[in-house]
Amino acid sequence: MAWDIINKIWSCFTHDLGIDLGTANTLVLVRGKGIVIREPSAVVQHRKTKKVIAIGREAKQMVGKTPNSLMAVQPLRDGVISEFDIAEAMLRFFIRKVHQNPQLFPPKISRPRVVIGVPYGVTEVEKKAVVDAVIRGGAREVFLIDEPMAAAIGVGLPIEDASGSMIVDIGGGTSEMAVISLGGIVNCRSVRVAGNKMDEGIVEWAKKKSNLLIGQGTAERAKIAVGRVGNNSGPVKEIALRGRDLISGLPKEVRINSSDVAEAIQPTVRVILENIKQTVEETPPELVSDLMQTGVVLAGGGSLLSGMPEAVADATQMPVVRAEDPQTAVVRGCGYVFEKPDLLKKVTFSKWW
Ligand code: ADP
Ligand code: MG
Repeated sequence: MAWDIINKIWSCFTHDLGIDLGTANTLVLVRGKGIVIREPSAVVQHRKTKKVIAIGREAKQMVGKTPNSLMAVQPLRDGVISEFDIAEAMLRFFIRKVHQNPQLFPPKISRPRVVIGVPYGVTEVEKKAVVDAVIRGGAREVFLIDEPMAAAIGVGLPIEDASGSMIVDIGGGTSEMAVISLGGIVNCRSVRVAGNKMDEGIVEWAKKKSNLLIGQGTAERAKIAVGRVGNNSGPVKEIALRGRDLISGLPKEVRINSSDVAEAIQPTVRVILENIKQTVEETPPELVSDLMQTGVVLAGGGSLLSGMPEAVADATQMPVVRAEDPQTAVVRGCGYVFEKPDLLKKVTFSKWW
């Protein structure tokens, strides 16, 4: 009760932010206001001076098109920070954007508190890098939360029940599958195989089948536009892939359809399904019998592929649903824990000032 009141008063002076620092996308949620930032995790900087030229959406549009003097950098790789200074610059840019947003009136005098997700099983060094980047990016206090836990909370799973819940988050760099019960992770796998690997599969497919060299961005656009999992899920659509002919060196266009994309991404999908299956196999039998009732919830951008829920259902023999707005699950979970001080204490595992 007392904590509630203190919290209320304090929240007049500070923003509480939930941040999903993903390999592909970074999202920021302001408590009480909703998601205010949803941009690619991308930065373009000057090669020599290291000056940052563009961040987020603007930077992603420049990827693969930069002149020699500039370079596009992805500050995260496989879910963890790989370019510290760049990640810090990106976070600072987004946190400032929130601070200076005139719609978030009244402006707050104190730096924000942040709950931020990290992939399950990352090292202490990797966690510390996230905390340091957020603090240097402008936060006052940082709480870390396992991404699958945040996703489960975000999609509204009853994580504190004894009956068990299962969440699968297929992102850009990592796929995570976790069984959660009584407010903790019972079993979790995190594999570095997700959306980006599917894009690489499409690049390879174009090379092998048509001697066509395409960029990863082109591959991703094709996957999103016409992609599906398996051969019987949804309508067959078609899109043009434009790139360079590997033999003549000249521009060329090849059409790719849904079945082709399904074939190109199949090896990646198989690894993901295999890991989901193994996570179920490693789960204590009592919980498995509960899971058969409650089923599996899918989150992350990769879950948007048509046919993905059916493929997971087929692999696990359990009911599967795709979360509503699956790409915002983690950030919504991060934001939600501010509403419940007990939950904040229970599910966030570190705290630094
Ligand atoms: P992260 O948490 O790693 O930042 P996200 O959950 O934002 O990742 O998901 C990003 C991935 O989802 C990218 O690989 C992107 O290509 C993929 N993606 C986004 N929308 C779709 C879609 N409609 N169909 C298939 N894949 C998608
Ligand atoms: Mg993610």
